[in-house]
Amino acid sequence: MTYSAFTGWADTPADVLPALEGDTECDVAVVGGGLGGMATALRLVERGVDVVLIEAGVCGAGASSRNAGQLTNAPAGDPQILSTMHPRRFRDVVRFAEGAVPFVEGLLDRFDIDCGYERTGNLMAAVSKGQLRKAKRNTQILQKAGADAEFVEGGDFGVPEGILGGSFERGGGTLNPGLLAFGVRKALRGAGVRVFERTPVRAVESHGGSVHLSTPRGRVRAGRVVLATNAHSRDLAFAPKRLAAPVWVSMAETEPIAPERLEATGWTSRAGLVTLHNLMQSFRITPRGTIAFGVRRLQLAHSALGSRQPDPSVVADLTRGFHDRFPSLRDVAVERAWGGWIAMTPSWLPVVGESTKNVFYSIACNGHGLAQAPYLGALLADRLAGDELHDDLAPLWRDRPRFAPSPFLNSATLTAGWMADRLADRLNRGRS
Ligand SMILES: Cc1cc2nc3c(=O)[nH]c(=O)nc-3n(C[C@H](O)[C@H](O)[C@H](O)COP(=O)(O)OP(=O)(O)OC[C@H]3O[C@@H](n4cnc5c(N)ncnc54)[C@H](O)[C@@H]3O)c2cc1C
Repeated sequence: MTYSAFTGWADTPADVLPALEGDTECDVAVVGGGLGGMATALRLVERGVDVVLIEAGVCGAGASSRNAGQLTNAPAGDPQILSTMHPRRFRDVVRFAEGAVPFVEGLLDRFDIDCGYERTGNLMAAVSKGQLRKAKRNTQILQKAGADAEFVEGGDFGVPEGILGGSFERGGGTLNPGLLAFGVRKALRGAGVRVFERTPVRAVESHGGSVHLSTPRGRVRAGRVVLATNAHSRDLAFAPKRLAAPVWVSMAETEPIAPERLEATGWTSRAGLVTLHNLMQSFRITPRGTIAFGVRRLQLAHSALGSRQPDPSVVADLTRGFHDRFPSLRDVAVERAWGGWIAMTPSWLPVVGESTKNVFYSIACNGHGLAQAPYLGALLADRLAGDELHDDLAPLWRDRPRFAPSPFLNSATLTAGWMADRLADRLNRGRS
């Protein structure tokens, strides 16, 4: 078993770009080179805006290359809670989420990125009768709001034994996020964006009509700045306070599994799976014939976010969950584990807006940013290039950068959620 502090999906790019040395100027400076920041910069340069992108590490090496690779057309969070919390904009949020998948598919086509994308859709999977009722209710709520979702039941759908059905999100599917993120990084360089890597932005200050960014060995004078710093925003004095809370999510992956054994599990649809537990567990088949799985436990950040490997006890718990879900694959070894920081918001929605004059932020988070972060970034870029607020951007735009703390993100609630899930699993096993 290898515990990695990097992504398990792809090798670290060897061609790290030079750090910023000295002073430079631009119309827009984008801070953070995840999929969100890279898509923002790409769209800006396409719109003829002079843009500089500054990345603390290597573009794409954050959450964007570490995630489960489930490209989904649904908003993050429980649809019933979301539609109750945001009754007036829920329909618009669903439309935004639906629009995010074709946006990413467009990136793959335009830049010829081969990341093993399979248009399988994703199933919010029910592993108990209670979860099946929840899936039915969620599907109805999503359909009413215009989502491309369908309630499915039983084995006909092609899911592993023990999965009773669920809410099928037809858009999207699964891909290798490492190849996607580093493919977009390559496109960014080809498009002529000035990119500086290994360049952490330490300060952002307004001076008259422009904004100055300080880095260890240079400065940028920009007309406007976009913060695309995702979970790291918490540690940045220049990001709005409580913009998003960082949470560590772990992933693990098996050794390659013989195709006939995979098929014998019944998973012929190859759809990505996300269980409807309090703290979900995700499973997906990878292009290399393995199963990657993640979450089940979320860990809060008690100090500054840094390089980190997954916790062996969390990976052992994830592995137990994998074996419970796939009893016929108990002998299959789990070969590697990694993790990453996601950003959570109390509203469960992406957030975008202007924090101080000419300083903008954009975070599409809560574990659904693979499609949403680049789409949100591109919509913000269009706004900065002079367009009206796009219909998909308007429901997420915040006029005031004030954010409340999340009532759910504390160790006690997360532990209670995990314990309730395990108890429900045990009761469910007792019944079957
Ligand atoms: C384990 C895991 C599983 C996930 N699974 C899924 C999934 O299946 N589907 C899905 O839709 N989403 C998933 N997500 C979420 C998704 O990966 C993220 O929402 C998305 O990648 C966010 O993109 P981003 O560009 O906003 O952030 P990031 O990729 O985190 O990029 C932010 C960048 O900002 C840089 N930065 C920060 N501070 C500074 C600074 N001061 N100066 C310069 N640069 C800075 C960082 O180095 C980083 O590269 C998952 C995430 C994780 C970690």
